[in-house]
Amino acid sequence: MTKIKLAVAAGSYCGGCDMSIVALNEMLIPLEDAIDLQFWQFAADFKLKDVEKLKDGEIDITLFDGPIRTSEHIKTAHLFRKKSKIMIAYGSCACFGGIPQLANSYSAKEILDENYVHGYNMDDSGQNHMQPTSEYKKGRKMTLPKLLDSCLPLDTEVEVDYFVPGCPPVPGQWETLLDIISKFIKTGELPPKGTVIAGNTALCEECGRTKPDEIVINKFVRPYEVDPDPEICLLAQGIICLGPATRSGCGAKCTLNANVPCRGCFGPAPEVNDAGIKMLSAIASIAGAKKEGELGEEGLKALMDQVVDPFGTFYRFAVPEIMKQMKMAKKQVKHVSSKSK
Ligand code: SF4
Ligand code: SF4
Ligand code: SF4
Repeated sequence: MTKIKLAVAAGSYCGGCDMSIVALNEMLIPLEDAIDLQFWQFAADFKLKDVEKLKDGEIDITLFDGPIRTSEHIKTAHLFRKKSKIMIAYGSCACFGGIPQLANSYSAKEILDENYVHGYNMDDSGQNHMQPTSEYKKGRKMTLPKLLDSCLPLDTEVEVDYFVPGCPPVPGQWETLLDIISKFIKTGELPPKGTVIAGNTALCEECGRTKPDEIVINKFVRPYEVDPDPEICLLAQGIICLGPATRSGCGAKCTLNANVPCRGCFGPAPEVNDAGIKMLSAIASIAGAKKEGELGEEGLKALMDQVVDPFGTFYRFAVPEIMKQMKMAKKQVKHVSSKSK
């Protein structure tokens, strides 16, 4: 049997996505005869120089986890795109920017200064022990990859064929992924490009909690402030839950198993481009539904002001769509101007 040549490459990843593959346990057994592993630095000492020697398109499938954060990630993404027939963004960091994209509120210089010059790594005597402090202070050239000013999803850099969201993805998605791989081995057929390997509804559809016919929120509470009723929709209890704006497919792990709200790790629900805006408008309409007359604009603003860390709440896993569009537009301009030279 012809084996599928598989690689697992990474951008700015935490290792959780790779662990989600290791944690598949016995689901990995049938793969042993079907997969010829070309690269996976999390699992073994593979070298990039060996990938460079492969023919273009020689790798069948690359799973790429983590977003594009440094100049090295750009090179890695392009290398694996060139060498692979199919490129899959694996995990929410690669699909949408994930948790690391929260750093987009700061420039690369601010982040480096915070780490290496005056930040939280200082001891009581004012000495910063993080390396390479002295080199950075002296402005010496470092061999480290360049930290980019933005942290963006994989598809802002290279073409992506499929998306597997989740932080990290769950075994159910692997069942679909394995079906796709085995069909590809047998028939060469693949799903349409751009397919998202997860649910096709908003998470609320997957969550079995009872939703009152009308939800009216007068006050937001944080989960630690209350003892939430495990049967009733958390949003109806005044706890911000991103279920209405998030894609299903995780089995509503947080809301059903842990009695905590969804934070949106599966990314925007189908037909939703920007989960943050969708959620803000959902909350604004719920909060104002019955109470608009009483609350007025000021009252609504006061209610929304109760949201601690709005950016981290509504954009925890997915970069705002406008930021992605700006990056794509800049790339397009660069491409056109280099062609016209
Ligand atoms: S998606 Fe989550 S688990 Fe995967 S690399 Fe990003 S932070 Fe880690
Ligand atoms: S808002 Fe949250 S708790 Fe309510 S139904 Fe949707 S996913 Fe479940
Ligand atoms: S409930 Fe939300 S945050 Fe929790 S695993 Fe599912 S999508 Fe992610």
